[in-house]
Amino acid sequence: MGAPAHHRPGGGFRNPWPTANGDRQPSVLRWWWERRRQELPPDPAPDAFPRGRPRIEYPRARPGTLTATWVGHSTFLLQVGPLNVLTDPVWSERASPFRAAGPKRFTPPGVPFEDLPPIDAVLLSHDHYDHLDDPTVRALVRRYGDEITWFTPLGYADWFGRRGVRRLVELDWWQTATLGELEVRCLPAQHWSSRSPFVRFQRLWGSWSLRANDGFAVYFGGDSGWFPGYEQIGQSTGPFDLVLMPIGAYEPRWFMRQAHMNPEEAVRAYLELGGRGVLGAMHWGTFRLTDEDPLEPPRRLREAWISAGQKEADLWIARHGDTWTNRADWSLEGLAGGPRRLDP
Ligand code: ZN
Ligand code: ZN
Repeated sequence: MGAPAHHRPGGGFRNPWPTANGDRQPSVLRWWWERRRQELPPDPAPDAFPRGRPRIEYPRARPGTLTATWVGHSTFLLQVGPLNVLTDPVWSERASPFRAAGPKRFTPPGVPFEDLPPIDAVLLSHDHYDHLDDPTVRALVRRYGDEITWFTPLGYADWFGRRGVRRLVELDWWQTATLGELEVRCLPAQHWSSRSPFVRFQRLWGSWSLRANDGFAVYFGGDSGWFPGYEQIGQSTGPFDLVLMPIGAYEPRWFMRQAHMNPEEAVRAYLELGGRGVLGAMHWGTFRLTDEDPLEPPRRLREAWISAGQKEADLWIARHGDTWTNRADWSLEGLAGGPRRLDP
């Protein structure tokens, strides 16, 4: 048995699919060069994002309950059975190594940090600044200490260890761990990793699934271009009640395609995962990372969803702070999706 195909000989990782081919370093220069001559769509006005009202259960949700609250970008508070889980937690004003420069939030986090319930676990998809936020990690460690179990792909133990994290579970793609009643699985994604210009592809990136004892399951797609792996993920790890997919940061396509899917590809990936459960949109409407109109992704997602013959009720395009739940007995004013439960 050799090393898995996504392990690079000599260290680091790679995307083992033809859809990932392309050279990145000259492309960044070309992107900057072409961008100088273009007028980008303007940033949205502050009132372009009406806010939702979080419906968090304190301290924890009742058995048989699944909730997801959108904080912004790829940050969700998931209440899965009796455990509270954060995905890619970012509360900072900027997705950047610098306090005064870099992509700035269009709108504040949908859940104030102080309003969080006890946090039992954090899932991390990769180390880019819009997903791995140093100040937020330190704030979580200060507030919750060893109550949190951190789940990361391979290569993060040192980084988190330096910030006082002791309960860290590093997983390779397809590896599974358990936390109480929860099964946590690291799954592939087509992306990359880097926190400085000269270190790339050294830490692994990935997507995640969470499955509670009662059978409810969530797929968290991380950051990913479309790649030919979603059917296998769905068959081995699905079905999911909630599928959270990135829908933003896709223009220009010639450069972003490998690392970021567009809304049409998010629908395709959902269908390939098995086409069951609710599709929830993420990775849009929070930080400007790329060239598309920041308000375009949800419009295109809805169009692609309807033209794929999917039901409006199975699409969840959250406002910041909105909560989705599988509980039919909740009154959920203003929710695009509404309560849903996936019957076995
Ligand atoms: Zn990324
Ligand atoms: Zn990202």
